Amino acid sequence: MIAIILLGPPGAGKGTLAEEIKTAFHIPHISTGSIFREAAAGKTPLGEQVRSILASGGLVPDELTIALVRDRLKQGDTERGYILDGFPRTLPQAEALEGFARPGAVINLCLPEEEVTARLSGRRTCPACGEIFHVRHRPSRKEGLCDRCGAGLTIRPDDEEGAIKNRLRVYRTQTAVLEGFYRERGLCHDLDCHRPPAEIWKELKPFLQGLEADPPPSSSI
Ligand SMILES: [Zn+2]
Repeated sequence: MIAIILLGPPGAGKGTLAEEIKTAFHIPHISTGSIFREAAAGKTPLGEQVRSILASGGLVPDELTIALVRDRLKQGDTERGYILDGFPRTLPQAEALEGFARPGAVINLCLPEEEVTARLSGRRTCPACGEIFHVRHRPSRKEGLCDRCGAGLTIRPDDEEGAIKNRLRVYRTQTAVLEGFYRERGLCHDLDCHRPPAEIWKELKPFLQGLEADPPPSSSI
């Protein structure tokens, strides 16, 4: 059973990696973002709560997030495993998770902070068609202009230098604590993400195949 948590700073490529794992091993990619969106679209009391929090731009509190993840993990498609992305984000969430699920490994995406900053700050977005470029990894043919529609490219507010610093600070103070939590439990698997995707995959795939061979823990609920 491949029950894993992806940990890593913004820009480390969690989403891309999760999709790759999902395709290769046929297990669901469970991101808190998608859980919140799904809940907000539903007509349940929890959904109503999430909707008003998201609409006000606030953070969904731990207790509500935990309840939603717990419900999501009960769905049938998680029988062979799952990829948790964005959860747990805090220590109370990690502690609560131990009460209803036993991840087999925590994949810790490691990337130097300068590289995180370079990746995020180099992102350019087309406000007209949504295409995303990168000054270094995916430059547009004409500097500052979209290849697809010719509109002028912009930097999303989230990718401005000040916002990046803030996102990294939040990550360090909150999420990085989790690394220690899972290291203590012998679950932390460090993955060097400062190399080409093919090389990362060459290391990760056999590791996941090893987990796949393991039966689900009998103590899981
Ligand atoms: Zn465009």
